[in-house]
Amino acid sequence: MKAQIVNDLVGIVGDEFVSTQPAVLLAYSHSASVGYEGAMPDVVVRPANAEEVAEILRLANRHKIPVTPRSGGTSLQGEVIPRHGGIVIDLLRLKEMTLYEELRSVRVGAGVTFGQLDKFLLGHDLWVPVYPESSLACTVAGNVVVNGAGPGSTKYGSIAEMVLGLEVVLPTGEIIQTGSEANPNAPGPYLRYSFGPDITGLFIGSLGMFGVVTAVSLKTFKRMKYFDYNTYGFDEYEQAERFIIETKHNEINVIFASIYEGQILEFFMDMLGEEYGIPETDWSPYTVSAILGHVREDILQSDARLAREICERLGGSVLNVPELPRGEWDRRLWTFARASYAHGWHWRTLYHHHTPSSWHRVIEKIWEGLDEFGILGHTAGFATGHSSFNFYPHLYFDPADPEEKEKVKKMHSWLAREVFERGAVPFKIAPFWFKDVPEMDEYLRFVKRLKEELDPNNILNPHILRGEE
Ligand SMILES: Cc1cc2nc3c(=O)[nH]c(=O)nc-3n(C[C@H](O)[C@H](O)[C@H](O)COP(=O)(O)OP(=O)(O)OC[C@H]3O[C@@H](n4cnc5c(N)ncnc54)[C@H](O)[C@@H]3O)c2cc1C
Repeated sequence: MKAQIVNDLVGIVGDEFVSTQPAVLLAYSHSASVGYEGAMPDVVVRPANAEEVAEILRLANRHKIPVTPRSGGTSLQGEVIPRHGGIVIDLLRLKEMTLYEELRSVRVGAGVTFGQLDKFLLGHDLWVPVYPESSLACTVAGNVVVNGAGPGSTKYGSIAEMVLGLEVVLPTGEIIQTGSEANPNAPGPYLRYSFGPDITGLFIGSLGMFGVVTAVSLKTFKRMKYFDYNTYGFDEYEQAERFIIETKHNEINVIFASIYEGQILEFFMDMLGEEYGIPETDWSPYTVSAILGHVREDILQSDARLAREICERLGGSVLNVPELPRGEWDRRLWTFARASYAHGWHWRTLYHHHTPSSWHRVIEKIWEGLDEFGILGHTAGFATGHSSFNFYPHLYFDPADPEEKEKVKKMHSWLAREVFERGAVPFKIAPFWFKDVPEMDEYLRFVKRLKEELDPNNILNPHILRGEE
């Protein structure tokens, strides 16, 4: 990169916040995506506010330099790797948080992590009840642009459902505000669907290719105090699927529910059983781990009773192992992060949504693929929102074995196609979904038109619509 451009960046953010040092660039060449190769940027810049981000984007446009926005660096599908070199904009300095208690909302800068937000809201007896299991490192803005989900999502849906508005710097440097805050006289964030079409939604799940999100406004809720943790065992997958659906139909306040196959639980027990204090258990072939929560104890108790009745009516049994769901909930901010990296795993995942009733069809395909491709892996997922099921099968490989890496890539492609045929959808734009599913070509053309309009020089995350991994 030309020295003059680096000097111009220094002119925007100050000397302290620009780096071309190889050790720094190396750190930004990787992310939590252990299944993807790193790539070095030419320069890293750390702006303090939206105006500085705008100036950086205008500079990048003048020189047609690719730009990768980066916040926590915890994305798992190689999203934040700067494949084209260029500028990485690190957004972690944008740390402001403003609570609007009367409006039941909060506004956070792009550098605020879920952990920081949760600590802040705890002081007000509030929360934003959707947590990715990377909450201590992952930013709210980063999660919005990948449209993540996690503990809390069974009741509240993906993070998209929490968003009331965004401040976004467009690729050409204009700063826009969406939602009710687009009116400068508004008292704060209170309505997402204002001024016509859902422009906020354009940026959710966009992987940052339509603009850099500099602030996110979210709904807040009263923190629940009463919880019921239980595991429900079933012999047949239909019973477990039906259980999830029936709890929804009956408006039971399940805040997080996962279906586990018995064989997966054995693996889970090796990894976390001791830490969660889970006793030796004869797991059923299909187990639902469920956390019910409420602000009122009487409603919680009645919900818990009803959940047990439904389980038994369906022919299942209440396993009375609260330690599993309790561990999942109490340690929701960090367990998975610690456990997976501590074990040194390398994996690829294929995030997608399908429905609880097609859970078994997807499971069958995953196991078929693991057998056929000769890969170690497992399934994992949880009910998310109104009627969908968030799924993230893990495909493991040895990073020192190029053949195994290649096999994992192939299975990943194959699986994207197979789950698409079973009605699954991704919850964010993702190159491989388009590459492997030609049925989406027309849709992709439309997205490309939007991209051309918003980002005429294709500077912001240019790889995404090229189908590059
Ligand atoms: C152990 C572990 C557990 C995880 N569990 C979950 C989980 O339960 N649920 C879940 O949803 N995810 C989970 N993830 C994935 C990851 O945490 C999410 O993808 C997260 O939302 C990424 O946020 P981030 O701040 O780290 O973004 P980054 O990784 O920095 O960036 C992600 C993408 O967004 C773009 N981007 C980042 N910030 C901005 C911005 N401000 N404006 C525009 N574009 C931007 C980047 O260019 C990139 O394309 C997990 C990850 C790990 C490592």
